[in-house]
Amino acid sequence: MIASVLPTYNRAPLNFVKGEGSWLIEADGRRFLDLGAGIAVNALGHAHPALVQALTDQAQNLWHVSNLYQIPQQQALADKLVEHTFADTVFFTNSGTEACELAVKMARKYFFDKGEEQRIEILTFDGSFHGRSSAGIAAAGSEKMVKGFGPVLPGFVHLTFGDLDGVSDAITDQTAAILIEPIQGEGGIRQVPDADMKALRALCDEHGLLLILDEVQCGVGRTGKLFAHEWAGITPDIMMVAKGIGGGFPLGAVLATEDAASGMTAGTHGSTYGGNPLGCAVGSAVLDIVTDPEFLAEVNRKAGLLRQKLEGLIATHPDVFEEVRGSGLMLGLKCKALNIDVVNAGYDNQVITVPAAENVIRLLPPLNLSDDDIADALTRLDKAATQISAA
Ligand SMILES: *Cc1c(COP(=O)(O)O)cnc(C)c1O
Repeated sequence: MIASVLPTYNRAPLNFVKGEGSWLIEADGRRFLDLGAGIAVNALGHAHPALVQALTDQAQNLWHVSNLYQIPQQQALADKLVEHTFADTVFFTNSGTEACELAVKMARKYFFDKGEEQRIEILTFDGSFHGRSSAGIAAAGSEKMVKGFGPVLPGFVHLTFGDLDGVSDAITDQTAAILIEPIQGEGGIRQVPDADMKALRALCDEHGLLLILDEVQCGVGRTGKLFAHEWAGITPDIMMVAKGIGGGFPLGAVLATEDAASGMTAGTHGSTYGGNPLGCAVGSAVLDIVTDPEFLAEVNRKAGLLRQKLEGLIATHPDVFEEVRGSGLMLGLKCKALNIDVVNAGYDNQVITVPAAENVIRLLPPLNLSDDDIADALTRLDKAATQISAA
């Protein structure tokens, strides 16, 4: 008999009932150090007082009105995002997938309105992840995601990650945009080098294409800058954001330049819940904290500390781990042992990590974890690795 919850996930037998900072408390009382943060969602850990305050204050006043009316909380969050990024305008969604949908629609509408209706193709990369909608799975294109769900939405050209020549060769008079994650999350914490980010921007400029960045996982302070592309000194035309921006409340956004967004006039897109007062009140509270230069400096300091300790862990357990990858607090440990076994050994030692492709485990801790949490993380990962070696 089918489970009452549609069984599309293989769930670990863990029942978390409470969260405190970087810790999750299981129904049986055990405390787990959370280095997964709900897959880079709980950017400020669990039950952060400023977020609890923002949500409860808003909940006592007004939950929902509809985008038929002014929403001051949405206006305030959009203004903050515009102030702190390349963007001139923002559309709010409830998820990363919905942000992907709009990014694709926006790019196509841009060229349609310019009279270049043939420009519908979007170049994407193997190992990418852009969500589970029809556009999201078509963009990623992996057999694992699209098989059985055809017909697949046309207009995506799948290229080899890291092959810049392949990108130039793929550009035709039908190309509209390049869509890429600055650091692949699900794909195994694969980082696009700064030089390649610059080269992609240059290719877009040369051919009049739009650069769409998917910063759903790597954005909102995760890499030690507000958005990951800032490290490369470039800006996109369109950017997808979600996960960390809501700190655990479902919230996403598409950020765009005025030019890229020019086709999205009244009636061309919408969302019932997107930009709702609850989500935007929380998003503003997250952004107020994450945009503070001192906060970002601390993210960078802690990232350096964690990374250095992880290098030590690899040296101690060369039979279990082989490499640290990623940037800031978006780190991957490439495993020699099976990554799922390492994640499970982590559970045995009350530390949470997240598997990814390429036999990697991801460390995506709350951005405000403490130095003590980092020390604790290493003790637990060390025990997990010792357990694997002994098995
Ligand atoms: C999680 C993720 C998405 C999809 O976001 P949802 O909120 O699950 O719809 C898209 N792109 C990237 C890079 C992601 O990590």
